[in-house]
Amino acid sequence: MSADGPLEGACLCGAVKFTATLPSLVCAHCHCTMCQRSHGAAFVTWFAVNRACFSVDEGAEHLVRHASSDHGSRTFCGRCGSSLFCELDSHPEQVDIVLANMKGPLDRAPQMHIFWSDRAEWMELNDGLPRLGGPTGTEPLD
Ligand SMILES: [Zn+2]
Ligand SMILES: [Zn+2]
Repeated sequence: MSADGPLEGACLCGAVKFTATLPSLVCAHCHCTMCQRSHGAAFVTWFAVNRACFSVDEGAEHLVRHASSDHGSRTFCGRCGSSLFCELDSHPEQVDIVLANMKGPLDRAPQMHIFWSDRAEWMELNDGLPRLGGPTGTEPLD
């Protein structure tokens, strides 16, 4: 794994292409209900980079930003619906990016589960990673 190389990503239809320059700041599996619904999945694996290390290289005109709460937004491709980015007022200096849309390996493995309290009960997970949850989604549970 490269520690500082550019990592390229794209949406499902390929109209939107973007680059994240590593190192990443964090990588976590998120089990919040908004992630579940926007992806149609039990959980979503996100990583974050500094905003300055992120660029949309093609297809910016296809990006649709949805204010998913009063403290953050989610951006998806208006052509194919791929969920792409999440931006939160709590850490405006960084951009959260869906790991599954990237074409190469990240510089770190997923470190934790967040919003574990909101997880889909039909998903069995025993990977030994820390489980954080509670009202903020990031409080230690174990
Ligand atoms: Zn697309
Ligand atoms: Zn989430």
